[in-house]
Amino acid sequence: MSPETQMSKCVFCGENATRKNSNGQPVCNEHMREDPKSVACPECGLPMKIKEGRYGFFWGCEGYPKCKQTFQVEAVVEKDGD
Ligand SMILES: [Zn+2]
Ligand SMILES: [Zn+2]
Repeated sequence: MSPETQMSKCVFCGENATRKNSNGQPVCNEHMREDPKSVACPECGLPMKIKEGRYGFFWGCEGYPKCKQTFQVEAVVEKDGD
C-alpha cells in the first residue's frame, strides 16, 4: 500500500473537504462560503487553530506549547442530524 494523501474533513460537517477557506480550514463545497469556524479551547479559552500534521488536519490550541489541547476535526463538527 502506498501512502495516500489523507482526505481531510470539512470542519463544519465532517464530509470530505475539497478546498480550504481563508483561514486554511478544510471545507466542503457546501461550506466554502461560511465564515471561518472558530473553536475556543476548553482548557484555557484561547482560540483553537487548524493545523496540519502528519495524519492530517487537527485543531490545536493557540496557546501551544503551553497548552496542548487538540481535537480531531471530526470531533468538533456540528451534527444536526439529517
Ligand atoms: Zn461541510
Ligand atoms: Zn488551550
